Amino acid sequence: MINFAYARAHDVADAVRQIAADPHAKFIAGGTNLVDLMKENVARPSRLIDITHLPLAEIRETPEGGLSIGALVPNSDLAYHPDVARRYPLLASAVLAGASPQLRNMASSGGNLLQRTRCVYFYDTATPCNKREPGSGCSAIDGVNRMHAILGTSEHCIATHPSDMCVALAALEARVLATGAKGERRIAFADLHRLPGDAPQHDTTLAADEIITAIELPAQGFAEHHTYLKIRDRLSYAFALVSVAVGLALEGDTIAEARLALGGVAHKPWRDPAAEAQLVGAAATAETFRRAADTLLSAARGFGRNDFKIELARRSIVRALTQAARGTPQSQSDKRIA
Ligand SMILES: Cc1cc2nc3c(=O)[nH]c(=O)nc-3n(C[C@H](O)[C@H](O)[C@H](O)COP(=O)(O)OP(=O)(O)OC[C@H]3O[C@@H](n4cnc5c(N)ncnc54)[C@H](O)[C@@H]3O)c2cc1C
Ligand code: SF4
Repeated sequence: MINFAYARAHDVADAVRQIAADPHAKFIAGGTNLVDLMKENVARPSRLIDITHLPLAEIRETPEGGLSIGALVPNSDLAYHPDVARRYPLLASAVLAGASPQLRNMASSGGNLLQRTRCVYFYDTATPCNKREPGSGCSAIDGVNRMHAILGTSEHCIATHPSDMCVALAALEARVLATGAKGERRIAFADLHRLPGDAPQHDTTLAADEIITAIELPAQGFAEHHTYLKIRDRLSYAFALVSVAVGLALEGDTIAEARLALGGVAHKPWRDPAAEAQLVGAAATAETFRRAADTLLSAARGFGRNDFKIELARRSIVRALTQAARGTPQSQSDKRIA
């Protein structure tokens, strides 16, 4: 039995004060990831700071014409919010592709961003893992690595980021609003999560005393031409082997704007500016999509059991871009299956 203290935060300033005072404390929102990690003895916070009573559960318009999503908006409320469903269907379908209805009711938007990897060795305290215990080694590199990364890996860690929602947020170029002891700041989504490098214990660039208060979506939601394609072992309740979020703006058959983000392939949602640049100005054809996929995957490397992901990702990119260009997103196919 490992004891921990529990305290409720009364407002954002109080939450920051409490976390700054105890380097081993953790915020708890829906608890769907943190409590599991505590049960497995992977996370051992000295204190849980309950943030669920903070006034951060609102979705509202921003002055720039986008939406601001409070960090405590449950994943379900986010996906079914009329403005999100209508203007950002890419985000709605990514959220609905994750977990189960019960989990989505509990899971918060801020917590989703900070959920930890699903690498089996990370959860197994009997095995070496640099992310859990820096310097102990990586069991996955020569181990069971079917779910692991093919891009942006290091010799210290090949874990993937498990979130679906984050892949859509990367494609939409969302911003994360955080408050810490030094004040408030906005973080471009691409700068929130980090690659493992030689410090895989750090998943994000968030400071230890910062709380996420909101996620901001820009006005452009790519509602006409989008898709979130998730390839997994089961149709529901499984993490992505590979997922692809696409947003396109078309002028006739020509691509005027392109966003392409991959999940299940790296320590963070993966975007490649060169692949996106290759799409812009080109005709929306299978050949164009294949070329972009080749560019994005040119540095991909497997570790044995996950070698198949490279070809899977290539085909998934082409399929997702095709669905988005045709205006027949994966979420519509899902509805037909259901
Ligand atoms: C069986 C199962 C299947 C799942 N399948 C999927 C899936 O397919 N796809 C997917 O994307 N997800 C999946 N999930 C993960 C789920 O989406 C996350 O657990 C959830 O989004 C986390 O949100 P939470 O509010 O419960 O976070 P918590 O567990 O409360 O917190 C997670 C982390 O975030 C920190 N935190 C929380 N809120 C804030 C904040 N506002 N500011 C700063 N730090 C904060 C906490 O300290 C903690 O470290 C699955 C989970 C389970 C248990
Ligand atoms: S891949 Fe990362 S999380 Fe998994 S065992 Fe290696 S260091 Fe740990």
